[in-house]
Amino acid sequence: MTAHLYLDSNATTPCSAPAREAALHVMEHCFGNPSSSHSEGLRARQWLERSRNAAQRALGAGNGRCIFTSGATEALHMAVFSALCELRRRRDAGAALAPWLLVGATEHKAVLQAVEHWNNTLQLGLQLRTLPVDASGRHDLSLLRNWLPQTALLCTMAANNETGVISDLAGIEALLHDSPALWLVDSVQALGKLPLALEQTRIDYASFSGHKLYAPKGVGLLYVRAGRPFTPLIVGGGQEAGQRSGTENLPGIAGFGAVFEALERGDLFADATTLRAHREALVRALHDAFPGLVFNAPLELCLPTTLNFAVPGASSRQLMNLLEAAGIQVSAGSACSAGQAAGSPVLDAMGRPDWASRGAIRLSFGPLDSSDFIDKACAALRRCGAAWASHGAEAAEAALSPVLQQPADAALHDIDLGWSALDEYLHHHPEALLIDVREPYELLAGAAAFGPANHAVLHLPLSRFAPEIKARPELMHRPLLLLCRSGNRSREAALHLLALGHHDVRQLAGGLALRPAEVPA
Ligand code: PLP
Repeated sequence: MTAHLYLDSNATTPCSAPAREAALHVMEHCFGNPSSSHSEGLRARQWLERSRNAAQRALGAGNGRCIFTSGATEALHMAVFSALCELRRRRDAGAALAPWLLVGATEHKAVLQAVEHWNNTLQLGLQLRTLPVDASGRHDLSLLRNWLPQTALLCTMAANNETGVISDLAGIEALLHDSPALWLVDSVQALGKLPLALEQTRIDYASFSGHKLYAPKGVGLLYVRAGRPFTPLIVGGGQEAGQRSGTENLPGIAGFGAVFEALERGDLFADATTLRAHREALVRALHDAFPGLVFNAPLELCLPTTLNFAVPGASSRQLMNLLEAAGIQVSAGSACSAGQAAGSPVLDAMGRPDWASRGAIRLSFGPLDSSDFIDKACAALRRCGAAWASHGAEAAEAALSPVLQQPADAALHDIDLGWSALDEYLHHHPEALLIDVREPYELLAGAAAFGPANHAVLHLPLSRFAPEIKARPELMHRPLLLLCRSGNRSREAALHLLALGHHDVRQLAGGLALRPAEVPA
């Protein structure tokens, strides 16, 4: 059985034991509505305020507001809405308004979209400008100095989700010294990894998300500096002191509260020295596995928990498949559509070469990952390196071959076969041939083979699929069931067969990744 090595903590983390226990406790013993005045409600309110107080202390929020939300996206919208309402008030009162909304070039989409959305919806007509970053991913502070007089709102994240690059917030703050601009710092990726003492800073708004640090999904928080403008985004029952209506997600908030309490105690999460040691071990393993590998951001400027890299001659899709074969789950640094990796806007903004942006992989771990886990991940990475070395050159060449021909729309029919229908399909199609389109290096790296009893499996890697099918015309007259890791490549291959006129081809939807536990290999 391949080990399960989750290395995508910047996307989300599992729920930690203290967070789970707190959430379960309130679900079992404290179900009241925190707005009710009977004892059930009062007990619920006590949990709510306990969590808020823990957040307030862990974030060093002082007299600032800490408002619970459904996640960082909502917190960001609240902040941007509040800031832009304030700008509109200032304009309506006759004040001269700086004309720019200045957003860092590597901000999360949620920030950019929120600024665009509220600028349009509130009909402010301000100009959305991008603050460039340098080759190391940090904001261009000399431009910022020149642009601040024109800036009404500045958005600069604390640490980047794709690269882990830590912003120079002290440098930005020094420039903001006597500027009236409002300042939003998306702090999602910093929580638990960088010291935060929000009240000591000039930051006006800061957003957080529970599920990025071992709390449940669906809970977040907005910090608003004392005295800074705030306008509620959701009104109704007056919860959160009228700042965010809607009955509170108490299990989520209690879970997030448990994480803040753990941060305060300092006894749950690994410290900075341990995180750096874990990174060093992973960096060594990556260099051993893939000679020539490059990191897309200078490690000394990054969160110790994020590694963004590319391997010459390997696409991000190939690397994802290879790593997953050894049980390692990571993210492509860039979006993949129809198998063609687009460049990552974050890496493009840093001026990374096209191949490194398109081929980027983000490997991120969390402060609950043990040294034993990191050792296992390192061993698996080295296994992947060996598998790639023996088959990679061939694969790299195949990746350059033309994209498989796609069928005309008319030829498309339902080719997806779910796992629940597999037994019945095999029963009714004893003559069906299963074709595994995964690459040999995936099997070599440890991917489990799949072959239900009494059914032949043919290995035809996608990289050689088109010529192999041409060389075997008999396959065009036999029911075929194609499979791969996630269902993407088997779908591509099935569509190719349809385009060639095959009438009886199916593909295993969701791929082997969705294999139910009870289905043997
Ligand atoms: N900001 C950053 C930097 C993030 O990484 C994320 C999550 O991907 C968000 C904002 C949005 O968080 P959520 O999806 O929890 O609302």
